[in-house]
Amino acid sequence: MTDCIFCRIIRGEIPASYVYQDELVSAFMDIQPVNPGHLLIVPNTHASSLADLDSKLGPHIFQVAMRLAAGLRGSTVQCEGVNLYLADGKAAGQEVFHIHLHVIPRFSGDNKGAFFALRSRGHSDQKQDRDQIAASIRTSLLHNTIPEIRKE
Ligand code: 5GP
Ligand code: ZN
Repeated sequence: MTDCIFCRIIRGEIPASYVYQDELVSAFMDIQPVNPGHLLIVPNTHASSLADLDSKLGPHIFQVAMRLAAGLRGSTVQCEGVNLYLADGKAAGQEVFHIHLHVIPRFSGDNKGAFFALRSRGHSDQKQDRDQIAASIRTSLLHNTIPEIRKE
């Protein structure tokens, strides 16, 4: 998949604010965050949907999500709770057909509701904001003794 946006990010052709990478998955800031600190966990090898995903990746992605949720809570990000969200298929709201898990920090008063629509993501930020937040999350992950943190 040469023109897939997430494959291009993983190949380094498009910049992203990374917080984590290992041999199987990468995690970086969503470009249109629901709240500041909104992360995406993306398999390093292209898989359009859950049906295409190597079965060993499901548990690994969830394990990384748990680490990132802890990382968010220990960072400067306003994070009192976390939503994990995955859209598998167009009817489910999937827009980027390289499967990914959203890790979304939540706080009381963020006005996103329990069953928020990702389409309501209204927070506009800049690459430098995302880089700054990503650096704080990476630091928090290091304090959680999580290995394989991608360096800038
Ligand atoms: P989906 O609706 O497929 O679950 O979510 C796709 C997500 O990818 C959206 O939240 C969107 O903001 C994010 N996204 C789309 N293009 C880019 C990009 O070029 N870079 C980053 N970091 N995120 C992107
Ligand atoms: Zn891809």
